Amino acid sequence: MNNKLFNFCILWACLGFYPSFALSESIPGGVAIIAVNDETRPQVFYEDKKVMVIGNPGAWQAVVGINLNAKPGLHQILIKSSQANKSLQFTVIEKQYKTQHINIKNKRKVNPNKLDMERINREKKLIETVKSNWRNIELDSLDLILPVQGRYSSPFGLRRFFNQQARKPHGGIDIAAAEGTPIKAATAGIITNTGNYFFNGNTVFIDHGQGMITMYCHMNNIEVSEGEKINKGDIIGSVGQTGRVTGPHLHWSVILNQTTVNPEFFMSSVDTETEH
Ligand SMILES: [Zn+2]
Repeated sequence: MNNKLFNFCILWACLGFYPSFALSESIPGGVAIIAVNDETRPQVFYEDKKVMVIGNPGAWQAVVGINLNAKPGLHQILIKSSQANKSLQFTVIEKQYKTQHINIKNKRKVNPNKLDMERINREKKLIETVKSNWRNIELDSLDLILPVQGRYSSPFGLRRFFNQQARKPHGGIDIAAAEGTPIKAATAGIITNTGNYFFNGNTVFIDHGQGMITMYCHMNNIEVSEGEKINKGDIIGSVGQTGRVTGPHLHWSVILNQTTVNPEFFMSSVDTETEH
């Protein structure tokens, strides 16, 4: 039995959950699904951030995004219900991600000047606000489609060095595709932000509800606008090479409780769903 499968089984046995919505693996950058048996719908918090809750009375599941920088060991969620508040513990298992070295020709994208830094800090605040949006809706499915067909040029979680300098780990998947290739919405939602950002280039954020947000970066053109409601598979724009890039690709992130998690946990039916 490989390690990943082994971890799944440990979780199944310990937590008694049934992964009807998403796969889970309690690792940095992963997703922990934790059973909450309250009758009324609880509110769940992890590191003071509101957490997605799915399921039914008596059989709720907290779907917890775990930060790439999370320390292995015991973590806890806080459960607030009409009866009482309580906490539940879960274990984050260590995961070693590979290292990646990238050479960027435009040196300002690695060592920005003072004006760039002012722009970056403004954008960072705005992006944090977009990522913290919460829509209280029921979710029927957490199944996502791959937004672009193509080669994974950089997987999730890589420990990154740009021009030999350490930077944040890779909080998404890079899919290499020709400039102009259409990008599809991973699932239904509302466009909560579009913009041109220093590092991310032309970017779209889609809010799917309960803190699940997808982000599409380095786009060539954007074909949606803020406030627009979209369906799964709708075209939101096309692949480009705007922002900090070495070539045309889509950087795609999935955000849960304001943290980026590996999108692969939500893609159980990639092969069939991406064909339309
Ligand atoms: Zn990327």
